[in-house]
Amino acid sequence: FNSTFGGLPTTIFELMSQLAARHGSINLGQGFPDNELEGPASMKEAAYQSMLHDSNQYPPMVGVPELRQALAEHSERYTGLPLDWQSQVLITSGATEALAAAFLGLLEPGDEVVVFAPLYDSYIPIIRRAGAVPVVVQLRAPDWSFDAAELATAFNAKTKLIVVNTPHNPSGKVFSRAELETIASLVQEHDAYAALDEVYEHLVYPGYEHVSLRTLPGMAERSIRIGSAGKTFSFTAWKVGWVTGPAPMVQAAAKAHQFLTFTVPAALQRAVARGLREERSFYEGLGPMFLKKREWLAAKLTAIGFKVLPGQGTYFLTTDFSGLLPENSTEEDVEFCSRLTTEGGITLIPVSAFYEDRTTAPKRLVRFVICKTDAKLQAAVEKLEAYF
Ligand code: PMP
Ligand code: GLN
Repeated sequence: FNSTFGGLPTTIFELMSQLAARHGSINLGQGFPDNELEGPASMKEAAYQSMLHDSNQYPPMVGVPELRQALAEHSERYTGLPLDWQSQVLITSGATEALAAAFLGLLEPGDEVVVFAPLYDSYIPIIRRAGAVPVVVQLRAPDWSFDAAELATAFNAKTKLIVVNTPHNPSGKVFSRAELETIASLVQEHDAYAALDEVYEHLVYPGYEHVSLRTLPGMAERSIRIGSAGKTFSFTAWKVGWVTGPAPMVQAAAKAHQFLTFTVPAALQRAVARGLREERSFYEGLGPMFLKKREWLAAKLTAIGFKVLPGQGTYFLTTDFSGLLPENSTEEDVEFCSRLTTEGGITLIPVSAFYEDRTTAPKRLVRFVICKTDAKLQAAVEKLEAYF
């Protein structure tokens, strides 16, 4: 729509899922697991029982005590850092709201925010609406490393926050301890803070380790961690997310949460509390399960002519499709994804969508999701084999 209102962009995930539905293509674009892979039945039962037997009125603004307590335990188990459940945990409507609440609550007009590109598409529109200024540092394919000198020049006296997403969407990169140490020293040198998008914290492949920047020396009081039951339990429709960290930062995000959503469905919060405590094997099994799928799909895509980029976590896999184009082709990722949906029967996400300034984006990378049944991945591969 051309409109005199707003100016917010349309998210690529909605666009590509609509296109997939319109053309009946296999949707390996928007990141959501197939129903067969979704979270434990015990959690659905817990949500249902809670709706039947507990209060169905507004729960506490910051979240139900059981879930805040379960998250304090969870956080302590996986980071080694204690959390006071009463002041250091906020429940939000998914990580999307957690990010928005953090940006709106922590930032003042004129603040600068360092972000890495490619980046999840909700960050920059909200940072700008908070009146703050994003400063973009490039992660460079194929290993998605950053230049420490470039990162250093992104920081200055106006820098309030850096956003670090690890494991990283769309690349599957897991930031190394050494990279996080570089970030931590810049944050402290400039008296800044960090918002850590760690929604894929449990989706790390065997042999790699998720390290939270919050666990590095001097960072516990400067960092909030953001998580999501959508990712941890493959219940993306539940929209239960959270912010944990130092009380002043969590409370600032809670101020924004008051006016964004105020609270989150209580029955779902209670069910997530149960899952965090009693279904550890579900989320601890995600990394190994997705590695198997990744390796299978990577081999098939390589045989077709895609160049598969390395990744250490998440349920995303990025590939370079240059090898599938005729010699003088000028085709870029958006056109490729559109053609693949309409002619090839498969929907993917163009990686340039993860850049606000597309002129800085790689031109020929596309993202596959692998959180699908083996049968669906097989069917997708057959479509690609038939098409190319
Ligand atoms: N951050 C990243 C990096 C994501 O990939 C996603 C979701 N796909 C979110 C945040 C939002 O998570 P939620 O669905 O819990 O809002
Ligand atoms: N995070 C998901 C992805 O990257 C999509 C979430 C959404 O559609 N908003 O595909």
